Amino acid sequence: MILRALIATAAMAALALPAAAQDAPRWSFAIHGGAGVIERASLSPEQDMAYRAALTRALEAGKAVLERGGSALDAIQSAIQLMEDDPLFNAGRGAVFTAAGRNELDAAVMNGRDRTAGAVAGLTTTRHPIAAARAVMEQSPHVMLIGEGADTFAASVGLEQVDPSYFFTRRRWDQMIRNLTEQGIALPPLPPVGTPGSPIGGVALAEPAPPLNERKFGTVGAVALDQSGTLAAGTSTGGMTAKRWGRVGDVPVIGAGTYASNADGCAVSATGDGEFYIRASVARDICMRIATGTTGQAAAQAEVDDALALGGTGGVIVMDAQGRPAFAMTTSGMYRGAVSAGVPATVAIYADEPRP
Ligand code: ASP
Repeated sequence: MILRALIATAAMAALALPAAAQDAPRWSFAIHGGAGVIERASLSPEQDMAYRAALTRALEAGKAVLERGGSALDAIQSAIQLMEDDPLFNAGRGAVFTAAGRNELDAAVMNGRDRTAGAVAGLTTTRHPIAAARAVMEQSPHVMLIGEGADTFAASVGLEQVDPSYFFTRRRWDQMIRNLTEQGIALPPLPPVGTPGSPIGGVALAEPAPPLNERKFGTVGAVALDQSGTLAAGTSTGGMTAKRWGRVGDVPVIGAGTYASNADGCAVSATGDGEFYIRASVARDICMRIATGTTGQAAAQAEVDDALALGGTGGVIVMDAQGRPAFAMTTSGMYRGAVSAGVPATVAIYADEPRP
């Protein structure tokens, strides 16, 4: 009798285990900091470490939100804002320059729960473009705002405004000068740095300027699954070095560089040659593939290969409804990382590293 009771208890415990595991908090988070020709020889050990540390900080910021039951959107925004503030990345402070010597910033965010989306292009004074994109989604009747009007809207909803010189970094300036010189295009005058109120002030001109690999993108992005089962995606960038004529890339084009849909079980953020990502509808196509049963990894690889076939290089990060992150790139590297419930944060840079 006692034996039978013991067996029954053990059987119940065994049955209870999977149920308990199912109830465990389930969340997952992945980020990128741009793709490109990133080879071991092109980064010093210090630069390599600095990028890994920055990616880890961003992952931890997203994790802190998701772990306590916060939303996928909050996780994405907090991680991207950190990367926008970090001059290592081509987003916010540290963004690339246009041929006219300006920083024009693009960003987008999408909520997979209801497929609401917000995007901004050509911002010049809003410190956190990702926050502006989210405000467009949540506090305006629109999906995309551009230029001065977008900054005005961001200011009107209380988002921090900065002097355009806040975004200035010497190495991005030098990168743009090299690019224009190669193309034989007239160089813009150095912008006024150190205007009152600029958080950088005159320091920017004195900062060391290690040469940057010219074939590296540096856009930042994040995808998340929160404990309520909602997927979201966000991306932020300065675009392409020496861009002209109000050029806008894939990042703020919903379905090209950014897309999320709970119904499809998919969230995507891309980085690369924006023109090709727009033409290949990369982000939405990945979600369509996943919705019809393709794995995140296979869908991601098929789409970056498709963009490559058109002539564009780059990478994507993808999150599926089960919280499985996927990473694909056609380049030799992509700054990237992932963390999920019960799985510690891992980061990677080079294409041949084990997947984070
Ligand atoms: N996709 C971005 C653009 O074309 C660039 C990047 O990923 O760094 O604007």
